[in-house]
Amino acid sequence: MQTTGNQIIANNLTKSGSDTFYAKNPATGEQLATEFVEATAEEIDRAVQKAEEAFVIYRKKSDQERADFLDKIGEEIMNLGDTLLELCHQETGLPMGRLTGERGRTVNQLKLFAELLRDGTWVDARIDTAMPDRQPLPKPDIRQMQIALGPVGVFGASNFPLAFSIAGGDTASALAAGCTVVVKGHPAHPGTSELVGRAIAQAVESSGMPAGTFSLVQGKSVEVGMGIVQHPLIKAIGFTGSFRGGKALFDAANQRDEPIPVYAEMGSINPVFVLPEALKQRSDKIAEGWVGSLTLGVGQFCTNPGVLVSMNSEETTQFLKVAEQSLSSLSTGAMLTNQISEVYQSAVNQMSQIEEVATVATSQRSDAATAAEGQIFSTSAQRFLTNSELSDEVFGPSSLHVTAQSKNEMLEVAKNLEGHLTATLHATDRDLEEYADLVAILERKVGRLLVNGFPTGVEVCHSMVHGGPYPATTDSRTTSVGTLAIKRFTRPISYQNFPQNGLPQALKNENPLRIFRLVNGKLTQEPTS
Ligand code: NAP
Repeated sequence: MQTTGNQIIANNLTKSGSDTFYAKNPATGEQLATEFVEATAEEIDRAVQKAEEAFVIYRKKSDQERADFLDKIGEEIMNLGDTLLELCHQETGLPMGRLTGERGRTVNQLKLFAELLRDGTWVDARIDTAMPDRQPLPKPDIRQMQIALGPVGVFGASNFPLAFSIAGGDTASALAAGCTVVVKGHPAHPGTSELVGRAIAQAVESSGMPAGTFSLVQGKSVEVGMGIVQHPLIKAIGFTGSFRGGKALFDAANQRDEPIPVYAEMGSINPVFVLPEALKQRSDKIAEGWVGSLTLGVGQFCTNPGVLVSMNSEETTQFLKVAEQSLSSLSTGAMLTNQISEVYQSAVNQMSQIEEVATVATSQRSDAATAAEGQIFSTSAQRFLTNSELSDEVFGPSSLHVTAQSKNEMLEVAKNLEGHLTATLHATDRDLEEYADLVAILERKVGRLLVNGFPTGVEVCHSMVHGGPYPATTDSRTTSVGTLAIKRFTRPISYQNFPQNGLPQALKNENPLRIFRLVNGKLTQEPTS
């Protein structure tokens, strides 16, 4: 299948703008052949208008119908075969093995939301039956469930061209919730976006969904994305990317006449704390694991471990020696775009010039056009606490080791952290007992706490939180990975004193969907009377 460079608006391939752009192979620097056209304001408006028209129909489709649709999207993505992976490899420089895995993750994510819909309990049905004889006033019959918000705008992320892009977690969870979706493709992989967009359009058609259920608009200027956020018919936004981008969209959404929620997942340094007994027992293994994690995917993961803290000790000296050997023997690959590699280069240059920051190790440089050298820096906890630049995310294969002189200093480092996606502890059981206060501090700072692992690798499941307090995200109450993500695109509604035949299936007395419901405060699958 050839790419066309068109927008996909309500299942039509269209092209009316005059501003054009091309994808570039980051490994070779070569420009790819397809000319992509930036979406015009009129096209964005049309996509959103169609999404609103479709929403009226799509939101009323049953959970079973939406589940089949999500499965169908997965099938259509698989039907693209190697064409998708090869083009994606050219546009992103990511290895084929990684992309094959990411495609699997994308399809499984769609399947997981389909299963959630088939189970049905996700609507969180609550029923309080009437008590007409209650004194002094009768109690009405009140029933609550979650319903879809409306058309949602989604931004594809550069670093996961499949799993956080056109059919990624934001799109999957919004479609599962019953929302229609307008996606802004990331300009670093427009061909991948188009192919996946066409797979979704195919699934829309064969599943009998209304045409405006899904649209894809492409563009290289911020106006395209802003056009979606500022459109009055858009009711929520999903975004993964930089703090600057996420915050700009969040601010724009709040300045609308009708402010809307923006679920932006932004930067994070994902601190790792190596506690004394664990460091004594297995410093070499932790050092090797750290280097593996910080260089994985050329460090272009939002869960990249950007800071590691341990106590001043002989074991820390040995730990850094192993990390140095491990990193200097590696060669890191191509970064996703010129811009990302330039920003990375400038951030590591800046880091190396900060007083009292030493370079511990540098990896070998590959010959890719956007090659990046992995870096490990080190500094003292005192320096880290007094220089806020050292807490900034460096997006790429770089990490900073921080040496604490005492447990108190380690706690101070933790207390001074902003919000992050994850924090990791390398610890024995005894360490965990002795550092319970560190865990208590970190609980207030992050969305996911890990023990004896590394934060890269985010499982897609029911209990995952890929989120965290600001500035890691713009809303710490939810997640962008896992089934809880569906709640970002729904809101609760109560039906008071509705007759049975006017109620949604999920709230009828006989419980035709056989879902779990909270009936008069008790969770049950039984019908009610
Ligand atoms: P980005 O600059 O945040 O862009 C992501 C998407 O948002 C793009 O489609 C971009 O459109 C759009 N956008 C950005 N700023 C906007 C604005 N002010 N108004 C409207 N739309 C806007 O991220 P990126 O291009 O992927 O990479 C740049 C940097 O982001 C990286 O160096 C890294 O620091 C960070 N990043 C973080 C994560 C993470 O997971 N936390 C992931 C990827 C990147 P245009 O491209 O058309 O401007």
